[in-house]
Amino acid sequence: MILFQKSKDLQAFIEKKKTENLQIGFVPTMGALHQGHLSLIRAAKQDCDLVVCSIFVNPTQFNQISDLENYPRPIENDIKLLIEAQCDVLFHPDVNELYGGNFAKDSSEDYGRFVHVLEGESRPGHFDGVVTIVNKLFSICKPHQVYFGQKDYQQCLVVKTLIAREFPAIQFHLCPIEREADGLAMSSRNIRLNSQERNIANHLYKALELVQNNWNKEHWQDALTHAKEMYLGAPFKLEYFCVCDQESLEELTDFKAEAVVLAAATLGNTRLIDNLLLRI
Ligand code: AMP
Repeated sequence: MILFQKSKDLQAFIEKKKTENLQIGFVPTMGALHQGHLSLIRAAKQDCDLVVCSIFVNPTQFNQISDLENYPRPIENDIKLLIEAQCDVLFHPDVNELYGGNFAKDSSEDYGRFVHVLEGESRPGHFDGVVTIVNKLFSICKPHQVYFGQKDYQQCLVVKTLIAREFPAIQFHLCPIEREADGLAMSSRNIRLNSQERNIANHLYKALELVQNNWNKEHWQDALTHAKEMYLGAPFKLEYFCVCDQESLEELTDFKAEAVVLAAATLGNTRLIDNLLLRI
């Protein structure tokens, strides 16, 4: 695996590879890699000749300075995992390399109503930070194909909109959520859960699953209420748990054959998010 820390070095390398007609796949991450991230690398390897992974903890998408400061950064282990996964290139710039002291954010304001609900409401400015960094990374790496996890479902809608507007040649791939054996969605933040919290953290998934298992016109609304009562009381601090249209993220009032159920809750000091696609 080749490691680049400077944008211009990565750019020159990619340009050369493109003259050799290679398909470039790109997997942006914030590191603290787990099987979820590695599943994206594997998907990219299946489609592409050269896979680039970036590790960059993006300051402009964090809402709390403590979350940014405490974000895990086990870079040595990440490099080991990427080599094992046969990733070809790691781009690991420092903050100055990408921002040069200018932390002005691009705006996602006019992307549609869906950027202002759920995560957009809970984390003001978060998607502006996401659009800013993804724009920078795509402009540097200029990939043919990009791979994002369904775990961050709303982020995927935002990135798809950015691609449609600014990078129409890029092909977007939505990759399934990798889970622990008990259903908990893998996340870099899960290591913050203490053992008691970890024991019940999968209730978020169980609540979503209950809705998925009752996805029919008669029972879906009861299932939503029941799931909340059964799994998401204290010690969970529930932020949202709702069934939405898959594209607009408008909350459903009437049943639809296809939808998505999304949830966010805090357990102790750890914020968890998860979702499941629904179809009859
Ligand atoms: P992050 O490092 O959290 O910014 O995530 C980098 C990429 O990995 C994003 O596209 C995430 O959606 C994806 N990802 C994170 N967790 C998982 C998971 N459990 N399964 C699949 N993809 C994931």
